Amino acid sequence: MQSKNISKSQKLAKVLKKNIVEMIYDAQSSHLGGALSCLDILSVLYSDVLRINPKKPNDSKRDIFVLSKGHVAAVVYATLANLNFFNKKELKNFGKNSSILSAHISHKVKGVEVSTGSLGHGLPISIGLGIGHMKYDNRVFCMISDGELNCGSTWESIMFAGHHKLSSIYCLVDKNNIQSYGNTKDIINLKDLSKKFQNFGWNTFKSNGHDHKKILETFKLAIKKKTGPNVIIFETIKGKGIKNFENKLISHYRPPTSNEYIEVKGEK
Ligand SMILES: [Mg+2]
Repeated sequence: MQSKNISKSQKLAKVLKKNIVEMIYDAQSSHLGGALSCLDILSVLYSDVLRINPKKPNDSKRDIFVLSKGHVAAVVYATLANLNFFNKKELKNFGKNSSILSAHISHKVKGVEVSTGSLGHGLPISIGLGIGHMKYDNRVFCMISDGELNCGSTWESIMFAGHHKLSSIYCLVDKNNIQSYGNTKDIINLKDLSKKFQNFGWNTFKSNGHDHKKILETFKLAIKKKTGPNVIIFETIKGKGIKNFENKLISHYRPPTSNEYIEVKGEK
């Protein structure tokens, strides 16, 4: 039975799940697994954390969000549409020829700060944005995948931000333990990720990435810190919420079947 006390972020998450399953099914596109793993984090981030305004998307005092794992664009587009950055009807065109809603995230879409897709670029760009916007106290949140922690450019930026003690930077790791070609531990084992970040001078936080209460509490703890930079390592499940997608490598690529689509559409 649905609780009457469902939070704003939980409401958004339910809508987003239906939206992205429909978008990816219609486009016969991919990356549903990685979109579902970060959907709850993004729901909390956009509902309760980010200081943004769809009426003033370029406000110089806004917070900035960069999706470095740009292949899960669908979930950010759906979020922005639900927050009235653009008309929800546009979501029908996701991943189709001539649509502005490209399958990898595009800054041509209102509310998207940076186009990404080639991995390992989002965090370096976020750090540049953080430095550029220091005078307004903007906060920069950057979501990276665990697979991106194989990229040298990610580690260069981690060293740089730590050295310069950039307190406005919040790196959000979607640690679903799977990347495009296999389990993260079998490709390049990240081992004790917190310790690695700490060694480069970062404040580290850990959270379950699907429990909205815990996600929000962890964001609040990280934001309280006056020194930085900060990383939150979210333990997530690839394909969360669709049984045949959960913790499966194939969920990185395959679109939902018609039965899976119908099932999610009918969820209360
Ligand atoms: Mg991953």
